[in-house]
Formats: sequence, structure tokens, C-alpha cells
Amino acid sequence: MGRTVDRALILGRTPWSESSLILHVMTERHGSVRMLARGAYRKTSRLYCKLDLFDTLELTWREPSSGVGLGDLSDADVLHRRKRPRQDLDAYEAALTCLELVALAARPANVETGLFRLLLGTMAALENPEVRPALALVRFELGFGVELGIAPSLAQCAACGGPAPAAQPASGGAGPRVAFSAGAGGRLCNPCAHEARRSGRRVGSLPVRVLEAAASLLDGTPPDPASADDLVPRLRDFIGRFLDYHLEHRPRAHRRFLARANRNAPAST
Ligand SMILES: [Zn+2]
Repeated sequence: MGRTVDRALILGRTPWSESSLILHVMTERHGSVRMLARGAYRKTSRLYCKLDLFDTLELTWREPSSGVGLGDLSDADVLHRRKRPRQDLDAYEAALTCLELVALAARPANVETGLFRLLLGTMAALENPEVRPALALVRFELGFGVELGIAPSLAQCAACGGPAPAAQPASGGAGPRVAFSAGAGGRLCNPCAHEARRSGRRVGSLPVRVLEAAASLLDGTPPDPASADDLVPRLRDFIGRFLDYHLEHRPRAHRRFLARANRNAPAST
């Protein structure tokens, strides 16, 4: 079997035997791969100190002879070492959440270049001290939804594709609200919300400005810093819950942030 070389980010590492590691990596052209890094903890190994989370690596490995099982890692180069997630706790948690989500979504032997590039771009953004880690995470999670084909409909009605104006008067501090259903795929117009409720679907509501901010962020425009303190936790809450619903799983990294009541719930009067 020949050797395979590809750019990669490590999604997870498990110590194995005395000095080895089992790695789960996301590669640019070979999808997600599990491989054995023999002797990676030995100081004399060419893999020593090169297999850290968050860094962009170039890995060389042999595919397993049977096509299943673990690849055999023979060489690693660090193409880009990232310091901020090791020094800033918010950046660390955001980066770890991205890795966990990709590990959950990646299917073996399925080339997912878009997902790899989204992850790489987010790791680069998290390295920039000007970027707020929570916002980089929201941007990642929105893009992650797009890559997986589970992105929420933010501007139009998810059911009929028509305009979906705000349905409910302002309540609490977050302004006008619009009908929203994770099960139906996102924002709903009034008639479709009515129809969804009649068929037994759960339909709630979200502040329009949260959906608008998510749509702008996906297009590359971060929210106005003046409104960001209130908006960023709401954005994170919204996209986190939406992804959990569609992944049918709450990632470990979401648990603490989403343990409290929905930040976008209507204010009770
Ligand atoms: Zn509709």
C-alpha cells in the first residue's frame, strides 16, 4: 500500500498502549480518518510534540490493508501552530466545540472538503485577537448547518419559501418576533405556522433581529459591536439548539451553555 499525504486537523486523541495515540483527524481530501500514531509520546519519535489539537498539520500515513481499521501514521509536519486557543479560555472552548461538531458529523471515507475548509477558516479566525470567540463559533455553526444541509431558513418561510413577516408584537427587550419551528426547518409565515401547529408540529417564535443577524453573519457581516453583547449569546443559543435538534444529540460542548432556559424565549408578562 502506498502512502497518503494530506492536510489535516486533529478532532480527537486517545492515548493507546504505553506511548502511542489513536487519532481521529479531518483531512482536506480524504475526509475523516482514524489512525494510529505509534510511539508519539517517545522523545525520539518523529511524531513527538507534533500532534496537537487546533494546529494545521500535514500527515503521511498508510491506509489499513483491509480498507477498514486504523491508518498507520508515519510522519507529521506542523504547517501552522496556533497559540490563542491554548492561552484564551473562550477561544479554547469555541475551538473545542467546532472539533466536537465536526467529529460528530464526519462520515468515514466521505470527502468533506467544505467542512474541512470551514473548520480551518474558523481555527484561523480564532487565532485573531480581534475576533470574538463566541462570534467565530456562531459563524462556524451557521456554516456547519449549511455544509450538512440542515441550515435554518432565516429570511423566508421554510415551508412555502414566501416572505415571513414578523407575526407577533414586540415582547421583552428583543423586539418583534416571528414564528419559528426547528422541525419545519426555520422561520415560518403566518399561514404555514398555523398549518404546522394544526399538524401537531411544535412552533415557537424568535426575535426577528436574531434571525437577521444570523443571516448577515453568514454573509460575512458581524453584528454592530454596540448590540453584540446582547445579541451574541442569543445567536449562540438559537443556532446551538437548532443544530442539537437536527443532530438528535446535544454535543458535550453545548451542554453548559444550553443548560439554562432559552435566551430567546418571549419575556413572560
Ligand atoms: Zn409559508
